Amino acid sequence: MALALVGICTGVASGRTQVTCSFPSGQQPQPTEYFVSLADNASHLAHVSIRFPQASGPITLYMPVWNALYQVRDFAANVENVHAQSSSGKAVALLQTKTSEWQIIPSDPCVVVEYDIHLNVEGPFGAQLSAEHGFFNWAMVLMYSPATRVQKMSVQFLDVPPAWSLHDVHVMGEASPGKVEQAVGIAANYDQLVDSPAEVGIFQHFVFQEDGATYHIVVHASPSDYDSAKLEDILRRITHAELDWMADRPFDTYTFLYHFPRGHGAGGMEHAYGTAIDLNAQRLNSNMMPVASVSAHEFFHLWNVKRIRPQSLEPIDYQGIMDTRALWFSEGLTSTVGDLMLVRAGLYGERQYLDRVASEISELQLRPAHRWQSVEESSLDAWFEGNAFYRTPERSISYYNKGEVVGVLLDLRIRQLTNGHKSLRDLFRWMNDNYAKKGLFFPDSDGVQQAAETITGQSFAEFFRDYVAGVRKLPYNDFFSFVGLQVAETTVRYPTPGFTTSTNLGGQPEVATVETNREAERNGIAVGDRILQLNGKPASQNMDYEMSRMREGATVKFRVAGRSGERNVKLKLVAREEQAFVLQDMPAISPEQRAHRDAWIRGDDENGGVQ
Ligand SMILES: [Zn+2]
Repeated sequence: MALALVGICTGVASGRTQVTCSFPSGQQPQPTEYFVSLADNASHLAHVSIRFPQASGPITLYMPVWNALYQVRDFAANVENVHAQSSSGKAVALLQTKTSEWQIIPSDPCVVVEYDIHLNVEGPFGAQLSAEHGFFNWAMVLMYSPATRVQKMSVQFLDVPPAWSLHDVHVMGEASPGKVEQAVGIAANYDQLVDSPAEVGIFQHFVFQEDGATYHIVVHASPSDYDSAKLEDILRRITHAELDWMADRPFDTYTFLYHFPRGHGAGGMEHAYGTAIDLNAQRLNSNMMPVASVSAHEFFHLWNVKRIRPQSLEPIDYQGIMDTRALWFSEGLTSTVGDLMLVRAGLYGERQYLDRVASEISELQLRPAHRWQSVEESSLDAWFEGNAFYRTPERSISYYNKGEVVGVLLDLRIRQLTNGHKSLRDLFRWMNDNYAKKGLFFPDSDGVQQAAETITGQSFAEFFRDYVAGVRKLPYNDFFSFVGLQVAETTVRYPTPGFTTSTNLGGQPEVATVETNREAERNGIAVGDRILQLNGKPASQNMDYEMSRMREGATVKFRVAGRSGERNVKLKLVAREEQAFVLQDMPAISPEQRAHRDAWIRGDDENGGVQ
């Protein structure tokens, strides 16, 4: 039934549906129509058909080279067998003109372009089709034409396994088993389509209402791996805290799309009307804080970066890297606010929050590159993060990490200058009112500085020169004294296997550094080796932390993939001493400092809650 409705014939030979140029009566064709056949899901191959019903001349098609991560990943490498046909079924001339560009000269007004694409990158930054499910970040799947990119377009699945359901973030909505092929998603343009990833498969789906909005929780996981009631409670608290803090709700419906794989997997990707989050299932069994923390961060992105958006990221150039100095704000301050909102939501206490901030300070101070790479430069160099050498502490700092610390200091400076009457909350509301709600993009760091200066009436020139554009030593105590705290240095001793790891896409840990004259080095552990398992379980991006919580002298088993193949390695954890920073009370705290602190960690202003 659904097939006949869209002008499609079932291809007998291939067992999959063929898209043709015949149109159903009464249906308005869109300038670009995408059809994605899942017939070969088990071999990770999606068949894409793009129908241009009213082509008026040559068509150029592009495959994005990047999306979701600020890394060039050349999705065209997964594309094969590109061809096109006209309404009479005749082949149409088609030429690949660049690595990610094709030219088509249609012979009549309707043309259908077809290709196959191999999709097997799991997680929120990938696209995957398998016998288990499909997860589609559309920029990794669908080519676009510059001429029609800004126009309405439709997307529809074909040949969907009968037991599968559909839920996407915004464009396609939801469909139950047997109905997925009837769900035609209409997007206002390509940018909106690719901001709306879709999940098809067998998943759990919960709905809750809060603050007048409808929230969908879609979980692809084993139901025994997480507590759905606890998850809903956490999300109710977080969403309420953030809507209240921003005094805004720019959506009616929002979707939290989770994958909790048994294998490695960690990360979240923000979208305007939802988020896709992957977390290792074993981590959830004992502790829901990791999912709360990622969810609070991703949810705040619905403002910061999706709507409060830097000019340097617009218009989106899918064909090349986009130089931006703004990620310290778009990512780092999203973390600053995310953590504050965990306190506001009642999920963190004061001590936990202060320990979080102190651990961010420690991480920054322990990366030698903080002496010469500014947080704006770290933002520009985001595109290098796929490179393991770039991720070493000597080579780079993280704009997430220093951005979060700078966000804390910016909040404290605003409070200091206004005696607690203004805060980061006012800065975000001001930027929301003056950019997001007016459909304007902010001029990167200058826009943030202007917002801080407008709400306080005072200069932030030195702050931005020294700590955002510059690498001046951060005078922590000048900021923290306002809330009765000081940063103290201490030495921590913890167990380590004699190497450290870092992770890229998908959360697979890779060896980043190997200490000399340790057992790890003697056992041939080398920079770039991938750690597959830790004590028989999939290694996660938190493996260094997990080992630091074990006992000295414990024997740890690794499954390692190196140059000469996979092998098992057993190592004894040895002690390592490292400098660390803690946030502690000043010797004497005044009632004013106490009041400032209480307001600060809840994200409140102190003037009786001026809205
Ligand atoms: Zn983020």
